[in-house]
Amino acid sequence: SALTASQIREAFLQFFEERAHRRVASSSLVPVGDQTLLFTNAGMVQFKDVFTGREQRDYRRATTSQKCVRAGGKHNDLDNVGYTARHHTFFEMLGNFSFGDYFKADAISFAWEFVTKRLGLAIDRLAVTVFNGENNIPWDEEAFELWAKQGVSRDRILKLGYKDNFWAMGDTGPCGPCSEIHYHQGDDIPCVEEAAGRKCQGVACDCDRWLEIWNLVFMQFERKEKDAPLIPLPKPSIDTGAGLERIASVVQGKRSNYDTDLFQGILATVSQLCGKPYTQETGASQRVVADHARATAFLVADGVQPSNVARGYVLRRIMRRAIRHGDQQLGIKEPFFFKVVDRVIELMGDAFPELRDGRTFILEVAKHEEEGFRRTLDRGLKLMDEELSKLQASGGKMISGDVVYLLHGTYGFPWDLTQIIARERGYDVDLEGFKVLQEKEAASQDFHGEKKSTTEVFQTVLARSAPTQFLGYEGEGHEGEGS
Ligand code: ATP
Ligand code: MG
Ligand code: MG
Ligand code: MG
Repeated sequence: SALTASQIREAFLQFFEERAHRRVASSSLVPVGDQTLLFTNAGMVQFKDVFTGREQRDYRRATTSQKCVRAGGKHNDLDNVGYTARHHTFFEMLGNFSFGDYFKADAISFAWEFVTKRLGLAIDRLAVTVFNGENNIPWDEEAFELWAKQGVSRDRILKLGYKDNFWAMGDTGPCGPCSEIHYHQGDDIPCVEEAAGRKCQGVACDCDRWLEIWNLVFMQFERKEKDAPLIPLPKPSIDTGAGLERIASVVQGKRSNYDTDLFQGILATVSQLCGKPYTQETGASQRVVADHARATAFLVADGVQPSNVARGYVLRRIMRRAIRHGDQQLGIKEPFFFKVVDRVIELMGDAFPELRDGRTFILEVAKHEEEGFRRTLDRGLKLMDEELSKLQASGGKMISGDVVYLLHGTYGFPWDLTQIIARERGYDVDLEGFKVLQEKEAASQDFHGEKKSTTEVFQTVLARSAPTQFLGYEGEGHEGEGS
């Protein structure tokens, strides 16, 4: 039978150990000494300074399975979760790294050997991409020829642009072209582009027909100053990342990450808790809950707690999104989320002892947050009722951006929920006004330090809006606790 996700993780690390890579433990989801980043979002994060040469290690090849979260900042997959078969907020990224040691030829042959020989994936389902050349940077003919040498058919080596196939650490620093390995899941899968009357973009498409499983970054240039021309690095490096959940899905012959052994146990618990089977209708919400329970368990284990600022605020949004799906879509009216989180700990505690060590605390945090949110959920709905009756009295048809923003930030009502409820009752919401406020908030976020407290942001909003009952806002960290 097919390899389990744990077996795949181990097979990957062993494969690269056999090729002289040092097995290095995953770093924390909270980047150590890096104020520019919200969460660790790729395997290379713990090696940033090694790539730039600022830090030396006693090895030049490494392999990891890195805990990653992409739910805020530059990589934000939060809204995709539940609705694509391949995105998570928390996932594991398998990777191999060369710090000025081997380069493209080995990186490509290692990856191809692992995928086709060790995992045994069918070659006729695979395609690879190379950088097509854009922005005065030449196309990656070298990579193209190296893939062809591995036996990849030339019509399965596709050229993609800067957006998908060029990587840069930042405005300055190391950068270079990438190659991605994609797996064909099937053309009968619905495509978002086709649904909109356009053509499916194949490997470049946002749909789930072609699944990107592995990204190989060839760090061969450096940019000394923003927008300055690229200069070749004397010792080019390799950084690769392959999502374990995606690899598991193709190895296990599934079309969705959620159908793999990594998620089946968690989804079974969600289904049991809501008393509803996993169907087309309940699936998205059950997936949201399962995914967000993983993120919660791992983030709290790594020291993040739900709050109204920076990392804690992202965690709070993740937790509340899950709880809201449980409450509204799945009909669970009692605190349940901590039970799903507990299942995650039970299933993943062997591979990640920090989950087991932190279990009591993690569960307490999850339970406390849900109890608080359930109190605000009621207050938020009440607030909306009041707002709607005011609109009715004045003959207005649109809930103002300020109110959407307040519900979103203070009561944990995502704008789309406000919109759904409003529309049910024949009203609309001022999304434009809401977005303006959100952008203002984003501008006030400074990931070089903590973002401005949400209280401050709300006070600004309140100061500008007409006096309303919202002036009773309790302040940071007290939602749901007040009278
Ligand atoms: P996509 O285009 O599908 O969003 P990406 O190009 O943003 O993926 P990379 O930044 O190249 O992803 O990350 C390397 C690998 O990590 C990907 O090839 C994929 O296997 C995995 N990966 C990336 N984002 C996620 C996610 N949100 N959930 C699960 N796996 C992911
Ligand atoms: Mg992405
Ligand atoms: Mg991509
Ligand atoms: Mg990629």
